[in-house]
Amino acid sequence: MNRTEYNKQYYLKNKDKQIKYRHEHRDVYKEYYRRAKEVRKLRYSYEEIREQENRAKSKYRAKLKLGSLTHYGKGACACVICGEARIDCLSIDHINDDGAKHRRELKKQKGGSWVIYAWLKRNNYPEGYQTLCMNCQTIKEATRRRRENQKGQRN
Ligand SMILES: [Zn+2]
Repeated sequence: MNRTEYNKQYYLKNKDKQIKYRHEHRDVYKEYYRRAKEVRKLRYSYEEIREQENRAKSKYRAKLKLGSLTHYGKGACACVICGEARIDCLSIDHINDDGAKHRRELKKQKGGSWVIYAWLKRNNYPEGYQTLCMNCQTIKEATRRRRENQKGQRN
């Protein structure tokens, strides 16, 4: 086991404990990050800092997205129906089609599509979601509409 792997194993083993510790000492960490930022300000220009923060943010969001898609792709970052694995065309689907309302609620918050990934993670990846590609999403929606129309005609 190399160093990185060891660190990862260690982190996973002590994850809950570490999160609890960070939570309890939140003020200390806040102060630490504030000071670190002060130091950065001395060393870098405003633009450079903004650039660094943006890079860190997009890296974090990419990780967040990958985490959600992998969880709901049953362990693989891919569509659960056809196996499409190109990440740009994958998204989270509400299995019971109640997604639109929830998405609208989340969209009211500031931010892009990553808001839903953050929400899922914060809620410990609740059930009722799956990773789908755009094609399978479109087909699912078309099937649903057709079924609804048929129901309408029968009544
Ligand atoms: Zn698919």
